[in-house]
Amino acid sequence: MALNEYDVSSLMDITSRPDLVFVKGQGSWLEDNSGKRYLDFIQGWAVNCLGHSAPEMKQALVAQADKLMNPSPAFYNEPSIALSLRLTQASCFDRVFFANSGAEANEGAIKLARKWGRVKRNGAYKIITMDHGFHGRTLATMSASGKPGWGTMFAPQVDGFPKADLNDLASVEALIDDQTVAIMLEPVQGEGGVIPATKAFMQGLRRLADTHNLLLIVDEVQTGMGRCGTMFAYQLSDVVPDIMTLGKGIGGGVPLAALLARQDVCVFSHGDQGGTYNGNPLSTAVGVAVFDALAAPGFLDGVKARAQQLQKGLMTISGKHGMGGERGHGLLRALILDRDDGPAIVEAARTRAPEGLLLNAPRPNLLRFMPALNVTEQEVATMLKQLDELITAVRKG
Ligand SMILES: *Cc1c(COP(=O)(O)O)cnc(C)c1O
Repeated sequence: MALNEYDVSSLMDITSRPDLVFVKGQGSWLEDNSGKRYLDFIQGWAVNCLGHSAPEMKQALVAQADKLMNPSPAFYNEPSIALSLRLTQASCFDRVFFANSGAEANEGAIKLARKWGRVKRNGAYKIITMDHGFHGRTLATMSASGKPGWGTMFAPQVDGFPKADLNDLASVEALIDDQTVAIMLEPVQGEGGVIPATKAFMQGLRRLADTHNLLLIVDEVQTGMGRCGTMFAYQLSDVVPDIMTLGKGIGGGVPLAALLARQDVCVFSHGDQGGTYNGNPLSTAVGVAVFDALAAPGFLDGVKARAQQLQKGLMTISGKHGMGGERGHGLLRALILDRDDGPAIVEAARTRAPEGLLLNAPRPNLLRFMPALNVTEQEVATMLKQLDELITAVRKG
């Protein structure tokens, strides 16, 4: 029904999509081409931290479009300067390179670590990454990811990403050799199923990195920008990484990502790194508006309050339905199901009437929640109530 008026045959078929087209969004709500509304707990995959069509983003976009869209990355522009200063002041990092996607930022991190290894570590180049980690869909970031089969799917793969187990320090230590230059991980594995690295593991990695003169790289594409209740998730474990990447939430829905590094790691020579759209004023102006909203007094307290509400509600649901509990940090959480009916619940939620609910199952036995960071108490309560009813309905058959 829904797709009748659209001819989608010219779009490359890269994933299965439901028969609907989203035409409008506001805050935590989306509307499709038939006029049906959906409560959105996916938010562009943890991207739209201020919800759909946030007024401050729209205002920044329009104002910047009026002034200057693209002078070329060979020249300075005001919004990219402003955003870089905000990011370095809010973090332990000294320098920022802006990119367009998380994968591109991670490519930059990998290049920077390899360059550092060439200059400072006698050509060391291997980067230890984690099994089940996710770092993007370019050739190098697929090899860095720990998804089964991903390293060789488009062989020949990019070499030099031995895999350790998350939260198993000995498995990391066992992989370190003369050619190891860095350890790279997500503070919470997002696509892998919302699995937090423990504080002890993060601190152990820092110690290992110090002992062996390695760089510690955190991929905060999903966990950064307030998602975990602090501006950056590395702050939850009191470690000081050497390199960080940001994506998703940093643009709040416009294409923007960033590579951040401490001064002594910034070894790129002119010509080593670049990109046509890096730091383009349209995206970075929106980035400034997003950052200022997240950094406003009380905003992150609101994230923590909603996170507590969500956590408590999920625990109640888990107890009632005999599930395996919940986990996560801030507003990146997962409900651990006791069986593989995640996809059935996601489907029932989306097709629910009169209003749909958008959820995600990164694994068949897991539901992931990544609402807007400004989601309201009422919206979290509504989602929890609907979820409870949906689980009951799906399990009745
Ligand atoms: C989404 C994601 C990426 C890839 O970002 P893109 O913008 O899709 O390239 C990389 N790392 C993590 C942790 C992510 O969640």
